[in-house]
Amino acid sequence: MDDLQLGKRNKRGDWSPDQPASIAPIWDFPPRFNKIVRWLPQYFFPYDIIWVLSALAWWQWVLPDVEVMKTLAWGWILKLFFVNLIAVFVFFGAYEWRLYVKRAQGTRFKYSGKWPADKKSDVFWFKSQNVDSMLRIVFHAIPIWTALEVGILYAYANGYVPWISFAEHPWYLLAIALIIPILHETHFFLIHRLIHMPLLYKYVHSVHHNSVNPSPFSSLSMHPVELLLYLGMACWHLIIPSNPILALYQLHRAGFGAIPGHIGFDKIEVGAGSGLDTHAYIHYLHHKYFEVNYGDGLIPFDKWFGTFHDGSKEGEALMDARFEKKRAKMNAQE
Ligand SMILES: [Zn+2]
Ligand SMILES: [Zn+2]
Repeated sequence: MDDLQLGKRNKRGDWSPDQPASIAPIWDFPPRFNKIVRWLPQYFFPYDIIWVLSALAWWQWVLPDVEVMKTLAWGWILKLFFVNLIAVFVFFGAYEWRLYVKRAQGTRFKYSGKWPADKKSDVFWFKSQNVDSMLRIVFHAIPIWTALEVGILYAYANGYVPWISFAEHPWYLLAIALIIPILHETHFFLIHRLIHMPLLYKYVHSVHHNSVNPSPFSSLSMHPVELLLYLGMACWHLIIPSNPILALYQLHRAGFGAIPGHIGFDKIEVGAGSGLDTHAYIHYLHHKYFEVNYGDGLIPFDKWFGTFHDGSKEGEALMDARFEKKRAKMNAQE
């Protein structure tokens, strides 16, 4: 595919789409129904439907009977840990292998002209973004992910929290399932804003931002505190009356679903003439400029707080003006 028909490449080799990044069109005023109808499938496809199916698969094939989950025993917990670990490596690894190891589409649709593997840096363990990220996934992300999952299932199994059944309340649970992306976006924006505060940024969130040019394994390369806050969004299902399968969906959406923002490519080419949109641009800009796009654009939080950057020249000018104002304020304080 010719990526220059849909965007341009600068002298450094960075590609940017002609179409600026946008907030979900449900927020447009006046509403444009055609645009909303065209956008609507994105709410489910391709990603969310995968997390729903993976939650069902875990429930069916990975997790033991509810009776077993009433007690904490190494058997089922270790099995869950290893399945989560393998699943993350297979899933993230598939993107990594195709786009970054085989470089199957070169730098077509790649936001940054550079490859993380070519840049050794002291900020990373073993000077490598990839090795650093993979080790953090093995030693921090999957243990914390699994611990939260075990805690949630244990609470449901023992009746410590209400367990609403699909047989009795299908419409209520369908409504909860439909707001899971909204819950995700709100929780993510709030904790992300929080960990950008100076001290938390320095000791916690900077780990994730070491990947200025993110690649698939950067997705869960985070400090343990950030992992706890981020993956902990699944605990909303202990507060809102819900069902363990929906808690798993929320957890998988956070865990596996961290990848779209970190693919580094705007499209993944499929065959000669078509490509899958990754929706990675908003979060790519966050990794590039740090203080823009704290959310993913489902809800216009960044627009409301003046931190949205759509990747265009106008977006850049707005950001520069904001940074300039901040600098002036800081200088005045000194
Ligand atoms: Zn990120
Ligand atoms: Zn950040």
